Amino acid sequence: MYAIAHGTTALAIKRVFPDAPLPALLVAVQAVEMLWIGFTYLGIERFTTTQTSVHLSFLPYSHALGTGAGLAIAVLVLGAWLGRPRIGLALALAVISHVLLDLIHHEPDISLLPLAGSPRFGFNLAGAPWADLAIETAYGVACWKLFRGSTPLLFAILILNLLNAPLMNPAPAAVALVSAHRWMLPTVILFQFLLTSTLLLRLSRPSEGGVA
Ligand SMILES: [Zn+2]
Repeated sequence: MYAIAHGTTALAIKRVFPDAPLPALLVAVQAVEMLWIGFTYLGIERFTTTQTSVHLSFLPYSHALGTGAGLAIAVLVLGAWLGRPRIGLALALAVISHVLLDLIHHEPDISLLPLAGSPRFGFNLAGAPWADLAIETAYGVACWKLFRGSTPLLFAILILNLLNAPLMNPAPAAVALVSAHRWMLPTVILFQFLLTSTLLLRLSRPSEGGVA
């Protein structure tokens, strides 16, 4: 899913685990995406394009269910070792949430294990862009409601979801640009992560009506 869906997941987890620091949760929900950005810059993972669409055709290492589970277990163990098991659990849930949400969103490109030949799954919500926009927006609002966030936070969530519409239905010229400049897509995703996390963090402060 897009950065705002992962970011709002951090808000929902924060409500259930108030002791978990929101900045750490915002990073944890996107830890897998950070791996993808790094691997794509390095050429270890790749995307392909058609005239009108971008396909994340090879991301078996960052986005495998096994990678998400492995990272989550590592965070759980670290939390227990540091004497903060509940924070470890919150961060582990944040990490694994990424691949689970992407499993719903992606076409069948989510590997079971972080191996090039592993079986791949994906329910391809992205294949129905308007349904995708509606469901991701509703999901963001549900997380906001659970978080009991402020009105400005709700507006930010709505606007960030709407801004995804051009990415869900990319213009051929934009696809051609991304295809010609391979660094552009991971950079856009990185920018989305930074913008989304900064806004969610800022607008969820207690003075804004949130609980962070
Ligand atoms: Zn992802």
